[in-house]
Amino acid sequence: DRIISAHLMMEDQQMEFSLRPRYLAEYIGQKQAKDNLKIYIEAAKMRNEALDHVLLYGPPGLGKTTLSNIIANELGVNLRTTSGPAIERPGDLAAILTNLQENDVLFIDEIHRLHRTVEEVLYPAMEDYALDIIIGKGPSARSVRLDLPPFTLIGATTRAGLLSAPLRDRFGVVSRLEYYTVDELAYIVSRTADLLQVQIVGEASREIGMRSRGTPRIANRLLKRVRDFAQVKGDGIITVDIARAALISIQVDPLGLDEIDHKMLRAIILSFQGGPVGLDTIAASIGEESQTIEDVYEPYLLQIGFLQRTPRGRMITAAACKHLGLPMPSRS
Ligand code: ADP
Repeated sequence: DRIISAHLMMEDQQMEFSLRPRYLAEYIGQKQAKDNLKIYIEAAKMRNEALDHVLLYGPPGLGKTTLSNIIANELGVNLRTTSGPAIERPGDLAAILTNLQENDVLFIDEIHRLHRTVEEVLYPAMEDYALDIIIGKGPSARSVRLDLPPFTLIGATTRAGLLSAPLRDRFGVVSRLEYYTVDELAYIVSRTADLLQVQIVGEASREIGMRSRGTPRIANRLLKRVRDFAQVKGDGIITVDIARAALISIQVDPLGLDEIDHKMLRAIILSFQGGPVGLDTIAASIGEESQTIEDVYEPYLLQIGFLQRTPRGRMITAAACKHLGLPMPSRS
C-alpha cells in the first residue's frame, strides 16, 4: 500500500478513532461546509426536528466520516454507520431504518455503491419517513406503508456525479469538502502530535503538512512514520531535520508525490510526448488500475496543476515537467 494513499488502511484504524475531532469547533478547515452546517444544526435543534438529509462529497480522507460523527454529536442523537456495498438487500436497509430512534443520524458511506433495489427503499424513507412494503405475491400483492421515525441520512461519496439523479435530489444539504491548505494540515499535525504526546516543532508540522496531498488522513499517517524516525534516530522530538530526513527515506517528495506518481508523470512525458493520452493507456503503462488512478491519485495531480484533463486524454503541464526536472515535450 502506498503511504500517500488517501484510503483507510489497517494501520490507520485504531488511531483514527482516537484522533477524530468530536465537535465542529475542533474540526479544522472546510469553513464553508462548517459554517452552513452550524446554522442548520442549530435550527433543527431549536425546532426539535430531524436535520435535513446531508450529502458530503469529496476525495477520500478529507473528513466525511468525521464530520458525520460530529453532526450526530452536535445534534445529541445516535449515529448508525453503514456503507453502500454492505447493504445487500432491501430488507437489510428496512431493518436498519426501523431500528432508528427519533432524529437519529444514519451515515451511509460510499452511498453511490447502493444496489438499485436498495436505493428505491430510500426514496420514500427520505421523503416521507415511510417504508413501502409489498405483502403477498402476484395479483393479490399489495403495498403497505409503514411509518418511520424522522431521521437524518448523511451520505458520503467521492464524487456527487456518481449518484443517481433521484437520490441526489433528495438531499436538502449538499456539501463539497475541499483539499486542505498547508496551514490547516500543519495545524492538524500539531493537534495529532499533542494527542499522541509527541513533541514537534512548528516548522516540522508544516513540512509534513506540505507533503500530505491536502489530506488529513495522509498527514496523520506521515506524522506517525516520522515519529518512529524521531524515536530511533533522535531523542523523540520531531525537529525539521528529522522530519525532512524521514520523509526522504519514505520517498515522499516535497509536494507529497511518491514513486508511482513520478513513474506516471514520467511515462506521460517520455513515452507519450506529454499527451494527450488516455487513462487506460497510462494505467497499462505503469501497471495500475485506471479506476484507482482516476479516483485517488489523479484528483490531486489535477488540483496542483500537474495534469490537465482534455476530451482526448490527460496532458502534462509545464509545472509538472519543471518539478521532475524534465524538458516540456514539444508537439509537432
Ligand atoms: P473520509 O470519511 O472523508 O474518508 P475521515 O473522516 O475518515 O475521512 O478522516 C480521516 C482522518 O483525518 C480522521 O481520522 C481524522 O482524524 C482526520 N481529519 C479529517 N478531517 C479533519 C479535520 N477537519 N480536522 C482534524 N482532523 C481531521
